[in-house]
Amino acid sequence: MKIVFFGPPGSGKGTQAKLLAKHLSILHLSTGDILREKLSDGDSLSIKLKEVMSSGNLVSDEILNQIIANKLMSDECRNGYILDGYPRTIFQSDFLLSFTKNNNLNLDIIFNFKIDFKLVEQRIILRSKQEQRSDDSIEVIKTRLHKYIEETYPVSQFFSENFSKNFFNIDASQEVSKIQKELINIIKKAKNK
Ligand code: AMP
Repeated sequence: MKIVFFGPPGSGKGTQAKLLAKHLSILHLSTGDILREKLSDGDSLSIKLKEVMSSGNLVSDEILNQIIANKLMSDECRNGYILDGYPRTIFQSDFLLSFTKNNNLNLDIIFNFKIDFKLVEQRIILRSKQEQRSDDSIEVIKTRLHKYIEETYPVSQFFSENFSKNFFNIDASQEVSKIQKELINIIKKAKNK
C-alpha cells in the first residue's frame, strides 16, 4: 500500500500515520521527522534547516525531493509507505507524480484530514507545551497554517480532482481511535475492489 496524508499542522495526521503504518507493517515516512533528525548533525545544512523550520516556513523543494527520491527507492519502502508531510508544494507534487510514474510506484490512497483552523491552533499550543517543539510556539503557528493554506491546500485540491476515486476526506475532529477505524475500513474496501 502506498498512501499519502494531507492535513494542516495539528490535524493529528502524524499520530494517525504512525498508528496506521504499524497496523499495515509499512514505513511511516514523515519528512518532518527526517528533517528533525538532520538537525543534530551540526553542519552548515543543519543550521540552515533549523532557521527555516523554527520560523514555520518550508524547507526547499530540492532538499525534500532528494530525500523522498532516496527513500522511495530504498528497501524500507518495499512493502509500501505512508507519506506524511509530503508533497507540500506543487513542485513537490509534480516531482512525486513523475517519480512514481517512472518507477511504477503508483499511489493507492490519499487521505485528506479536514479540521477547523481554530481547533488546530488549540491543539498545536497544547503540543508545544507537551513536546517543547521549537517550531510550535504561538508566533509561528500562524506562519505554518498560512503556508499550508497557500502552498499545500492547492496540492490537496489537485489530488482531489485528479485522483477522485482514491481520495478520501477525513473529519479530523473525531477521536483518535474512531479516525483510525475509519482509515482501516477505507483501506479494506479499496483492497477488495
Ligand atoms: P512537520 O513535522 O511535518 O510539521 O514538519 C516540520 C517542518 O519541517 C515544517 O514546518 C517545514 O519547515 C519542514 N518540512 C517538513 N516537510 C516538508 C516538506 N515536504 N516541504 C518543505 N518543508 C517541510
